[in-house]
Amino acid sequence: MPTLSVRAPLAWLGPGEVVRYAAVVAEDGVVVYAGHSAPAPPAERRIDVDGVLMPAVADRHVHIRLADPAAVLMGGVVAVRDLAWPADDIFALADASELPTFNGPIVRAAGPMLTAPGGYPTGDRWAPPGTGLEIRGVDEATRAVRMLSDRGAAAIKVSLNAEAGPTPTDAELAAIVETAHGLGLPVTVHPEGKGQVERALGAGVDELAHTPWSERLPDGVIQALARSVRIVSTLDIHSYGEITEDLRVAADNLSRFRAAGGTVVYGTDLGNGPIPPGIHVREALLLHEVVGMTNEEVLGAMVAGRLEAGGPADLIALGRNPLEELDALGDLRLVMRAGRVVLRRAELDTGSN
Ligand SMILES: [Zn+2]
Repeated sequence: MPTLSVRAPLAWLGPGEVVRYAAVVAEDGVVVYAGHSAPAPPAERRIDVDGVLMPAVADRHVHIRLADPAAVLMGGVVAVRDLAWPADDIFALADASELPTFNGPIVRAAGPMLTAPGGYPTGDRWAPPGTGLEIRGVDEATRAVRMLSDRGAAAIKVSLNAEAGPTPTDAELAAIVETAHGLGLPVTVHPEGKGQVERALGAGVDELAHTPWSERLPDGVIQALARSVRIVSTLDIHSYGEITEDLRVAADNLSRFRAAGGTVVYGTDLGNGPIPPGIHVREALLLHEVVGMTNEEVLGAMVAGRLEAGGPADLIALGRNPLEELDALGDLRLVMRAGRVVLRRAELDTGSN
């Protein structure tokens, strides 16, 4: 792969790092330089973008089989985490996504969601058989986590959806968390129904796969969450552009979580309703407008990492500055994954330099 230099009048390389007249140089899929263009090393190929460079986006909650991976990538999302799908299919896709020829984002997967017999999502229309893995007892819970770890799971997902059916017992939940942590895997939970967030907290889980929306959480619970758990936003699934009661409750919980110092990451639950593939601008706007995060905080919650030497050459360019107006995220000019240009729109390639 020839070395490639991408230049732009402005770049946001990550939180706190804005560079004017910037260059990012990539070699073999890896960034070898990111910073001011003057001292940038020469490259065999050069792309000039009249816009703003920034790291590409990661979506931490998707169901990628319900979407088009190529459209996700072309929409500026270079990495996704799939949080419930049948094991054989999703782990094969995750393996395939690591190949340079794969036309989509890199896929990390949880595999099936652990649940109680008959629990969510075993009876749900969106979920093919095998999307939920029913566990009966502590031994089965432990074995299930070990099996998923062996197959390459990036996280363990647990259904605590008490409104849709039975949920794993506290003993099973504790065994899941203990086994997962012993294997170095985080545990993420679908919390729905009264008291389920408290159960997740008590078991020591690492993440909530959704902002809790089914009840307003007491301040004490919010404080405890902020200390030990991160939250994947998924706000727009409650509204699809409308202001609904569920969105109001979720936004209130997430605002207080943020104010208490909690970590929010961007995730859309792609595949759940009319969420578009690629960067979902409305999810970003909700984080700013109803949760109160600054534009830079929102961008920080969306990217996989900084643009820096040694990191993957995963970047996007926008026609306008997202630090000033977040809806610039909808004005994509360039998408690059691992040094490969997958989308280019209205910019000038001046050839070699
Ligand atoms: Zn989901």
